[in-house]
Amino acid sequence: MNKIKLLDKDLIDKIAAGEVVERPTSVVKELLENGIDAGSTRLEIEIRGGGIDYIRVSDNGIGIAEEDLLLAFARHATSKLESESDLWLLGSMGFRGEALSSIAAVSRVEMYSNPGGEGHCIRVDGGEVISCQAAPAPPGTSVTVTDLFYNTPARRKFLKSTVTEGNQVYDTVVRLALSHPEISFSFRNEHRQVFMTSGNGELREVALAIFGKDFSRRLLDIELQYGDITVTGLIGKPELTRKNRRGQIFMVNRRVVKNPVLSVSLEEAYRGLLLGRERPVGMIFLTMPPDRVDVNVHPQKTEVRFHDEKAVFMAIKTAVREKLFQATNPDLTREPFRTRVESFQEPSPSPAYIPQPVNYRPQPVLKEETLDFMAMSEDDIPPINIYGQWKDSYLICEIDGLLNIIDQHAAHERLVFNQLKAQSVKTVSQELTVPVAIELPPDLLLLVESRQEFLKNLGYVMDRIGEKTMVIRSIPALAAGGEVETLMEILDTWQSRPFAGELDLDDGLKVLACKGAVKAGQRLESREMMHLIREWARTENRNFCPHGRPTCYTIDKAEMDRLMKR
Ligand code: ADP
Ligand code: MG
Repeated sequence: MNKIKLLDKDLIDKIAAGEVVERPTSVVKELLENGIDAGSTRLEIEIRGGGIDYIRVSDNGIGIAEEDLLLAFARHATSKLESESDLWLLGSMGFRGEALSSIAAVSRVEMYSNPGGEGHCIRVDGGEVISCQAAPAPPGTSVTVTDLFYNTPARRKFLKSTVTEGNQVYDTVVRLALSHPEISFSFRNEHRQVFMTSGNGELREVALAIFGKDFSRRLLDIELQYGDITVTGLIGKPELTRKNRRGQIFMVNRRVVKNPVLSVSLEEAYRGLLLGRERPVGMIFLTMPPDRVDVNVHPQKTEVRFHDEKAVFMAIKTAVREKLFQATNPDLTREPFRTRVESFQEPSPSPAYIPQPVNYRPQPVLKEETLDFMAMSEDDIPPINIYGQWKDSYLICEIDGLLNIIDQHAAHERLVFNQLKAQSVKTVSQELTVPVAIELPPDLLLLVESRQEFLKNLGYVMDRIGEKTMVIRSIPALAAGGEVETLMEILDTWQSRPFAGELDLDDGLKVLACKGAVKAGQRLESREMMHLIREWARTENRNFCPHGRPTCYTIDKAEMDRLMKR
């Protein structure tokens, strides 16, 4: 006969432990977070055997009073949480009171702690308290965890090689060190010092200590206030890339977090600057009112949800984009060209032109920012001298005393894009004499249906005529000759984005601008060159094409003299 049995406490603890303690890196994370919560200014981490054999985390925090030592190892014992609403406001890392008990349930733990008087040592083996007695210890707490999963062989089997586990521990320590520049972290692996940060509060110094000179030389500081979101941190120059996202770390209100929109916005900012597989590097801090973000009450405590995902997207993208723009276009800040540039601006200039803006308020994305050219007097056009076209692709000219080598396609693309945007409502559509039927896979059909309005504004008139088939009746005039191909390109740019928004229209316009622009390799007449350069010279954001590639290379006389060693 089957009987319902109560699980014994030991088994419950072992099951629960698996939630918190999956592998050595989760042990290290919990112990370090306890040290941070304890107000430490110095944390030392040492591991051996990938952390499976040995982990020690020592801190110089407030320590644990003798009478609390046993309690600290009891499940759901925490000194940090009174009610659930404290979760974020509390600012503490741990809050479930189950890390120590879970770790102790599946390993051998020895903890020394000294809250400022006398030290004590407690030993717990597989959840059993072996001893708890007075012992000399420096102020703070030191926890040693050995033989992880020695009593749960099934879990131990899931561990990877010691090298892989050790690498994951490294990642965790790095992330916590970067998110706490004010704490000194020292990390030893197999008796070797891997890195030590100074704890002087400078993120750049943390990066230097961990990644070395070569790496940190190629980092740029970012700082932007976007509505009530503050973005700070370090990003890699476009030449500093990784093949995966391990070089991307995001902190929200000082907590290392995960959310797909974070990487997407960072990568969007680099769009056009990196090659297909390259991933940008970034250590980005977001600060926002705690009530604008939900933290998932999961043991790993890393997943967050933003109430206004789009604001987060725009904040990161703008902060990063601006910096990249400045870094790749130092010419822009150069007099007198810059004064000229400013004379073409609307009262509220595009963010890309403000060096280190202090308080940039978000602008509606579709706000018409392009100037009415006709309103400008001839005097406002900078003096232009055209020397010619090189390789049918580059225009060589002098603008306002500076030598410019202009990528004709990229420059024209920018111009067409700005003009399309200025029309703002709808691009010119052209009816097809013979409608084209296309069959689409379900994901693309969904994309088409969810963004009908954008497609219409771009100039597409389409109907669904079957389960999988759509008929294209009209197309944007600029897409003439490539109706299906252009549509596919547009859908492709939309596919990577987690939500529909005005940016989608921009992406569509970018594809159209690319189709409509003169190509590299196309011979231009001098009249056409003049027209293109004049219009381009006074259009907004001229130094980047809409995809983010540079449109020109500019050099002044002094720099040329230097190059020629005059
Ligand atoms: P939580 O961190 O969720 O409260 P833990 O199981 O990690 O739960 O720790 C239980 C309690 O033990 C903590 O609330 C804290 O009071 C105490 N504690 C643990 N580690 C330390 C430490 N390094 N320094 C001071 N107190 C600690
Ligand atoms: Mg904890």
